[in-house]
Amino acid sequence: MGRVYNFSAGPAVLPEEVLREAADEMLDYKGTGMSVMEMSHRSKAYEEIIKTAEQDLRDLMNIPDNYKVLFLQGGASQQFAMIPMNLMKNKVADYIITGQWAKKAYQEAQIYGKANAIASSADKTFSYIPDCSDLPISEDADYVYICENNTIYGTKFKTLPNTKGKTLVSDISSCFLSEPIDVTKYGLVYGGVQKNVGPAGVVIVIIREDLITEDTLPGTPTMLKYKIHADNESLYNTPPAYGIYICGKVFKWLKKMGGLEVMKQRNEEKAKILYDFLDQSKLFKGTVRPEDRSLMNVPFVTGNEELDAKFVKEAKAAGLENLKGHRTVGGMRASIYNAMPKEGVEALVAFMKKFEAENL
Ligand SMILES: *Cc1c(COP(=O)(O)O)cnc(C)c1O
Repeated sequence: MGRVYNFSAGPAVLPEEVLREAADEMLDYKGTGMSVMEMSHRSKAYEEIIKTAEQDLRDLMNIPDNYKVLFLQGGASQQFAMIPMNLMKNKVADYIITGQWAKKAYQEAQIYGKANAIASSADKTFSYIPDCSDLPISEDADYVYICENNTIYGTKFKTLPNTKGKTLVSDISSCFLSEPIDVTKYGLVYGGVQKNVGPAGVVIVIIREDLITEDTLPGTPTMLKYKIHADNESLYNTPPAYGIYICGKVFKWLKKMGGLEVMKQRNEEKAKILYDFLDQSKLFKGTVRPEDRSLMNVPFVTGNEELDAKFVKEAKAAGLENLKGHRTVGGMRASIYNAMPKEGVEALVAFMKKFEAENL
């Protein structure tokens, strides 16, 4: 069997070209006689891999020189703790709760200080982004935290919150490299790469240098200090070496595709195909307020659980995989990350049309 169209929310589809290249280099990376998996992270060959990956990411995102790029482990979830441990100088932070990931980050921060939920969209199952133009930002907040694209609920901040001068911290796991962002608007942005960038096991943190200090909360483990990783260029200990290598290949692929402006256009085009269909469908319905719709994660329902299950099953048989929605939303979710070709979305919509005709 060949490759399917994989709509998984994460770990998720990677560019086929990248996988083929990695396969070609599996046994002998560029004449080294070994796989990248087998080489020392202190070797010349690996140094070149990680340095090039960082430079390509800097080019793609236009990351200013006063920001560090850190390749870390522990997933996005480890950042839920690392952020307060490193940034909570006053032990106060404001959280905007737009879904489970933001909520988990908020709950974790409560272990370390006073975390305030200053806005939430829990009242409508996180199907929208609250108005964040004039929130009660705490006077002594060390930062304001958002989850920019809500993987589970399919919402996305189209405008960043007004933080009233406080440092903005953002989880961009599921919209990482999907469109250009202005890094200077953030103190720290981070993402687990397994959604839109690479294999699970790598989390990338982009942090403004003045936020990297020795002054962490008492008891912060060495491995959870940004400073130790920044001072050691992400090589304090053995990094997730192979994962970083694949991320590097994805960065090269994105550059070749034309960069993030082009990816944004492609992603808008792809999402429009699906949203336009949902907006006129008599069977399927999108669950998100239209102005807050994500380009990456598209939840939808029929309104009938049995029919949803039938759809997911028949779609799978047709080579459209991982369309089952998150258990808290039900229904379906199509994640249409950078590496999902337009043809995949077209195939999904064609299948939905057929299913609608047969089941209405
Ligand atoms: C998947 C996801 C996480 C959790 O990622 P892990 O790497 O599994 O810890 C956090 N935030 C967002 C937005 C996600 O999509």
